[in-house]
Amino acid sequence: MSSAYIGRLAPSPTGALHLGNARTFMIAWLRARSQGGRLVFRMEDLDHPRDKPGAAAAAVEDLKWLGFDWDEAFVQSERKDLYRDALERLHAAGCVYPCTCSRKDVENAQSAPHAGEQLFYPGTCRGRFASWAEAADAIAPRTPCWRFRVPDGTVVRFDDVFAGPFEQDVSRTLGDFPVARDAFGAGYTLAVAVDDALMGVTEVVRGDDLLAATPAQILLYRALGYEPPAFCHVPLVVGTDGRRLAKRHGDTRIASYRAAGRTPEQLLGQLAATCGWGDGSPVSLRDLLPRFTLETIPHAPAVWTDPAALPAMS
Ligand code: GLU
Ligand code: ZN
Repeated sequence: MSSAYIGRLAPSPTGALHLGNARTFMIAWLRARSQGGRLVFRMEDLDHPRDKPGAAAAAVEDLKWLGFDWDEAFVQSERKDLYRDALERLHAAGCVYPCTCSRKDVENAQSAPHAGEQLFYPGTCRGRFASWAEAADAIAPRTPCWRFRVPDGTVVRFDDVFAGPFEQDVSRTLGDFPVARDAFGAGYTLAVAVDDALMGVTEVVRGDDLLAATPAQILLYRALGYEPPAFCHVPLVVGTDGRRLAKRHGDTRIASYRAAGRTPEQLLGQLAATCGWGDGSPVSLRDLLPRFTLETIPHAPAVWTDPAALPAMS
């Protein structure tokens, strides 16, 4: 049973890999390998305005340097036909419709100040256009997007392996969420659901910044006729100010530690200590296998206590 486990490592090439990313990947890798499971590597490079040239190759180099391996590798930008097929299936099933609203329109339609990244969409364009072409004509030269219809009272519940029971009424939090930014260009949410299903991923281990985006993904799995995987959302690494690890906390890029002469074992030892797997002494990924357990990982974000660039490693 356990060897049927398939996990994944899915970096986005939007910047250099830092300690926070490495910690999440370390947990995902150990979770799969400690039960004899397989791992797919997936480069999530569909976010063109934010993707940085060279970041994809650099992420692979950083991960290999740290000792990560995987059984198969995929690049999302080479899989657009699959996302287009999925979009066509959703369209044929009446699950999506074209929307001509600009970001400003959607922002103006918010009834309450919005905290998260995704805006609530009140369904303005539902039933408004008979076809994509009609919507496209109406706002040329701008391009409509495709939105997924979320009927009132669509409550999604799932039991997160790490975070526990989670419930969200998607019709109230997101409304009809976008699945493609133009006629065929699948966005992140759709691509992830299609890929996890086609790659046979049985469990998604990732940062808990994506916990609230999971119910929308689950709706897509269901609409496409796929069984959703299990989800295991782990806390992010934050600085001493409680904010997500970023440039302001100093240089925590893996490549910078490597350039400064740190070893993978030093970094992994420190990260493992934040998971309750040892005292911070240097250790390889493989040597962590027998220590791996989700039980000791704190539910609060991991605080990187020395925010100065390149803190001293033991
Ligand atoms: N590529 C996404 C990120 O780096 C993660 C997506 C996922 O794990 O589902 O934020
Ligand atoms: Zn609209």
